[in-house]
Amino acid sequence: MKNTALWQLILSSLEKKISRPSFVTWFQKTSIKQKKGEKITISVPNIFVREWLQNKFETKLLSSIQQFSPEVKKIKYTIHSSTSQSLNAKTTLSSIRNKRQETKGNKKTDHSQHKIEFYQNRLSGLNPKYTFENFVVGSFNQLAHACAVSITKKFKSGSKKQEGRIKTEYNPLFIYSNVGLGKTHLLEAIGNEIINSSKRKKVKYIPCSNFTSQVIASIRDQSIEKIVQDYNHFHVLIIDDIEFIAGKERTQEVFFRIFNDLSEKGKQIILSSDRPPRAIENLEERLRSRFGGGMIADISPTSFEERMAILEQKLEERKSSIPEDILEFIAKNVKSNIRELEGVLIKALIMSEEEQSLNNIKQELKDIVEEPRKRISPEKIIKTVCNFYNITKKEILGKSRKKEIVLPRQTTMYLLREELDLSFPSIAVKIGNKDHTTVEYSCGRIVEKLRKERDFIKDIEVIRERAYNN
Ligand code: ADP
Ligand code: MG
Repeated sequence: MKNTALWQLILSSLEKKISRPSFVTWFQKTSIKQKKGEKITISVPNIFVREWLQNKFETKLLSSIQQFSPEVKKIKYTIHSSTSQSLNAKTTLSSIRNKRQETKGNKKTDHSQHKIEFYQNRLSGLNPKYTFENFVVGSFNQLAHACAVSITKKFKSGSKKQEGRIKTEYNPLFIYSNVGLGKTHLLEAIGNEIINSSKRKKVKYIPCSNFTSQVIASIRDQSIEKIVQDYNHFHVLIIDDIEFIAGKERTQEVFFRIFNDLSEKGKQIILSSDRPPRAIENLEERLRSRFGGGMIADISPTSFEERMAILEQKLEERKSSIPEDILEFIAKNVKSNIRELEGVLIKALIMSEEEQSLNNIKQELKDIVEEPRKRISPEKIIKTVCNFYNITKKEILGKSRKKEIVLPRQTTMYLLREELDLSFPSIAVKIGNKDHTTVEYSCGRIVEKLRKERDFIKDIEVIRERAYNN
């Protein structure tokens, strides 16, 4: 297959996995530069796109590539020269001036000066780019922010004698919200603030999925005691996206021990999740009650004014400007999530770097935000698989071990995971109260089958197409 055709296929698979604004922002003007054995080189228009693809989309991108080229294991990026030059050259927004720029004293726009930091502190796991200074506070996140600040203040006022035994009312602090509303930012800001104000405080930030991998590795090496001991040394433990612990019994057990050890010593624990503790399925009761034992704060969707303030903040960070009505257009239309808001803003900035006309920019943004994101539901997936294999829903959700039923059932589980990002436990419930380990195993089987059987890739594509388009 030619690289262009292959890239089209890969993009069509990817398009279904991510939102329309993200897709258009990050995958436009990309192509395959070269594909050789395990390596594929993707050509991208500039350094931002490379950073974002590497840091935010690599897993999804790789899985889409492997759908069509299972041999690929590694993605490399190259920046195509024409646009990278225009970015590196200190282009100013000469064609576009706005009020904001006048009031702020005609700053030059130069994206190359804004180094996006994806650097992580090796010891704490914290990324220093997340701070309180660049976190916009509004009524949507006021409570969570106030709790966060209060914790950092307690650490500042804590005397040396206390040796890390700092009592706060918010222990644990449990922050929840939909995706992209600032949980990670806030959690990391707390950590950064604490390590910056006192070098002696040991802070650990870890995404729950990494924590789980550590526990699994320690079970294999029989070093659970060591892990528990290691975590004992931290003054502050921050675990992001704790909902991933659902259904993982051993990880829950280890976490329960660490949690108890730390809280007995008055250490601070901070957790985030996409839902409140009561809504996390397959969570041990004793953990659920621990999670809710301190302070629970949610972050809600933003208002137009708050989105404007966030956009201004992001421009400030990038030392860039953009006409006010474009900002307003973005703030009016990209409502669900701050990450997407930022994505569309960067898209607009890149276009104005390329000196595109205002009208062009507006038109393009309209195209991005106005096409509704394609949606599918678990029911739709189940129904489409049933139709494709000509079996009934009852059979799919049932217990039959016949080959004609098992494959469609496994396919359904795989698609629920791939298309809807559902957790193994929640797929287990949806597929007729199976065990979550069955789901994990089934998804693995399908991935394996996709590697080996090209015809099966086509089947999956057809099912996916139908699920989205019928
Ligand atoms: P979550 O963890 O809830 O999915 P993130 O913390 O990753 O969300 O936030 C997504 C993006 O939006 C990040 O780039 C973050 O810096 C930005 N962001 C979120 N909330 C705010 C805020 N209140 N002020 C400024 N930027 C924010
Ligand atoms: Mg997050």
